[in-house]
Amino acid sequence: MPARILDGNSIASEIRAEVASEVKAMASAGAPPGLAVVLVGHNPASEIYVRGKVKSSEEIGLYSEKLTPPDTITTEELLEVILDLNRRERIDGILVQLPLPSQVDAKRILMAVDPAKDVDGFHPMNVGFLSTQRPGLVPCTPAGIMEIFRRSNIPVAGQEAVVVGRSDIVGKPTAMLLTNDNATVTICHSKTRGLPGVCRRADILIAAIGKAGMITSDFVKPGATVIDVGMNKVTDQAEFDRLFAGNAKREETFRNKGSVLVGDVHPQVAEVAGAITPVPGGVGPLTIAMLMCNTVKAAKMRRASRVLELSRV
Ligand code: NAP
Repeated sequence: MPARILDGNSIASEIRAEVASEVKAMASAGAPPGLAVVLVGHNPASEIYVRGKVKSSEEIGLYSEKLTPPDTITTEELLEVILDLNRRERIDGILVQLPLPSQVDAKRILMAVDPAKDVDGFHPMNVGFLSTQRPGLVPCTPAGIMEIFRRSNIPVAGQEAVVVGRSDIVGKPTAMLLTNDNATVTICHSKTRGLPGVCRRADILIAAIGKAGMITSDFVKPGATVIDVGMNKVTDQAEFDRLFAGNAKREETFRNKGSVLVGDVHPQVAEVAGAITPVPGGVGPLTIAMLMCNTVKAAKMRRASRVLELSRV
């Protein structure tokens, strides 16, 4: 029986509607939460991502600003931009779109973002909060994956979860969230021996690798839940045939556009898995929805801590 499709678009729109009503309430009580997106230079993929983030902010009524310093900016100059955003009351969330130009020290920039405004959840202080189960800001893609489980009634506690990929952005925080929710978690990477066998143990399999269709049916236990984080553009005909031969809809897209988007999971896995996220339309929409969520969360936490400070005066 083909897998149940976990529709990221509908889950994301449910979350956006909830966030929009919170934003509305906060706006009528004073000021809406504010998000600043910093986009350095003209990376075409980054421009598309930022456009989506700003559009989504506007749709739910967030106050948003886009800052676009030139790609010749130095680390010191960009630090000044961040420090200024840290000081501004109106701004609750700061997002620095990656990658940054090679002359900029990205680690110094991300460290400079006020952890209370770090809506990407990349600051080491937020990483520490996550690993010690304290309230903080959690990276958007992993947080979105957990919302998929929660809102699709997929149990996590006690399940065997395998995460393929150990990046700071996706793999590691996802593994941490699953651990915090009482799954038994294995993290795999490029040096893991016997990867298909390790993956076959999984009740929940997360693929965050960046390799088109690498997870084939022999990696998947029948009935497992498979979350495909990968976003890969396929332009090569032989690669396309390996993944989508006989799929009329994809063939048409490939013919018209010269490329298709594919995850890290081979489409045939849908015949073996119990539930699976599609690409596109799975994890991707959740990432932006959780950015909106994090901005509201940051605004609430900042406002609550201000009330606490005032009550001590
Ligand atoms: P990344 O930083 O490149 O990390 C990839 C991970 O995969 C690494 O840990 C690497 O292992 C592991 N890996 C690579 N080849 C492998 C192999 N043959 N076997 C086992 N493990 C292997 O990538 P990322 O930032 O985590 O992103 C992963 C994918 O998710 C990409 O396709 C990206 O575009 C996508 N993504 C999607 C969203 C979304 O919103 N949908 C958000 C973020 C990322 P080593 O550590 O040993 O090198």
